[in-house]
Amino acid sequence: MKCPTCNADMVKRQIEWKKGIYVRADVCPKCKEEFIDLEEHERAMREYTTQNITKLKRNVIKLGSSLAIRIPKDIETSLGLKEKDSVEIFSTREGIVIKPKKVRV
Ligand SMILES: [Zn+2]
Repeated sequence: MKCPTCNADMVKRQIEWKKGIYVRADVCPKCKEEFIDLEEHERAMREYTTQNITKLKRNVIKLGSSLAIRIPKDIETSLGLKEKDSVEIFSTREGIVIKPKKVRV
């Protein structure tokens, strides 16, 4: 594919489209223009929307001698979480992941 701006040969590259969301794009090595196709854009938009519906700010609180974070109601409801449910918690490069053993629907 040729760059629509400067006509140079474009290269396929994985780029960060929005924070944490990566897309396959055609990148112009000359003028640095970046293009993604419609399908890829739709997929990225879906991913972005999903991430941002559940992205809420919470403060870390003290609970006895431990630190705790309140789970937003939206997430509680969508996972069907209940008091005393068992979850797995681990830290990743992206942050903390909390995984319920079962998701109620
Ligand atoms: Zn170009």
